[in-house]
Amino acid sequence: MGGARAGTDRTDGTAPEDRSLLRAGEKVLLVDAKKRRYLLTLRVDAAFHTHVGIVAHNDLIGAHEGATVFGSTGRRFLVVRPTLAEMVLKMPRGAQVIYPKDLAAILMEADIAPGVRVLEAGVGSGALSMALLRAGASVVGYELREDFANRAHNNVVAMVGEGADYRVELRDVYEGIEERGLDRIVLDLPEPWRVIPRAEVALRSGGIICAYLPTINQTAQFRHALEESAFGMAATLEVLHRTWHVEDRSVRPDHRMVGHTGFLTTARLLRPEELGSRPGGSVGWTPPAAPTAAAPPPVTGDDGAPGTGEGDDGRPDDGPRDGIDGVAAADPVEERWPRGDGLG
Ligand code: SAH
Repeated sequence: MGGARAGTDRTDGTAPEDRSLLRAGEKVLLVDAKKRRYLLTLRVDAAFHTHVGIVAHNDLIGAHEGATVFGSTGRRFLVVRPTLAEMVLKMPRGAQVIYPKDLAAILMEADIAPGVRVLEAGVGSGALSMALLRAGASVVGYELREDFANRAHNNVVAMVGEGADYRVELRDVYEGIEERGLDRIVLDLPEPWRVIPRAEVALRSGGIICAYLPTINQTAQFRHALEESAFGMAATLEVLHRTWHVEDRSVRPDHRMVGHTGFLTTARLLRPEELGSRPGGSVGWTPPAAPTAAAPPPVTGDDGAPGTGEGDDGRPDDGPRDGIDGVAAADPVEERWPRGDGLG
């Protein structure tokens, strides 16, 4: 292991820092025998009262994460640091937070990475902010409500620390976006289609817009607005998350699940005007040449993207994949985005 992480690879003869030791000031989760979870912040000499007994913080400070401790009535508690997902579900919130399963998907679909410049609106309770910051992004948040902005800031500092690359501004994102050259815009508010004209100038070319919406009606309206915009490569998904009950003779899905949260839509800002600078090209999009009998048409999904091998029903099919199975693409750009992708 060639890691040079602080505290794990020392050459000065001192023992490496044990990162499992719990310290005063940290947040921990106590888990009782019935799997009930209690979130607390460790303070010297403090006591935590549950209806199954009192736990002294001093017994937790200096203990190892993952240890079992005993309350005043002899009941056992596990102590662990909360994960981001556990924090999101336990932290103080006013606005509805985005569920962890959807936060995870947003990080992938919006391709969040260290150093990526993100505008987030609205900020709500800060759950999405935390996920973006933990993935290393530089985040500016726009939020209408001052109480939400303050709560989000406090939640984020508690989870990510004061040094987070994070700023929240009291602004209406529908009125405009001040930043330029952004890599990503992530939206969790009711009318994201109103942000599209703002996003077209605030994002850099190739940047990603991502909207999280609770209903498919809103999602359809957003998709329709994207079609009329400079954005292309639009895609929509929802994440179904089903937990399982696993016990000796009973291994099956849990009876209860969160049946619905929201839909996630992403699209990328394209630069149609550059097509005009191709050799022999004209300004704007021209339709691809009609396929010949010897060369069947390329397979495209209903978003116009080729090569997924899936039709509208989402099932794989056996059709040819363009440019792969010997179907020569006359113009790769035109073949890739034949309609509705801001090139028309
Ligand atoms: N994603 C957040 C929750 C957002 S709830 C989280 O994970 O915690 C939606 C938020 O959008 C609310 O706080 C609301 O005040 C804010 N909002 C609604 N319209 C807005 C607008 N036009 N500009 C900025 N914020 C807005």
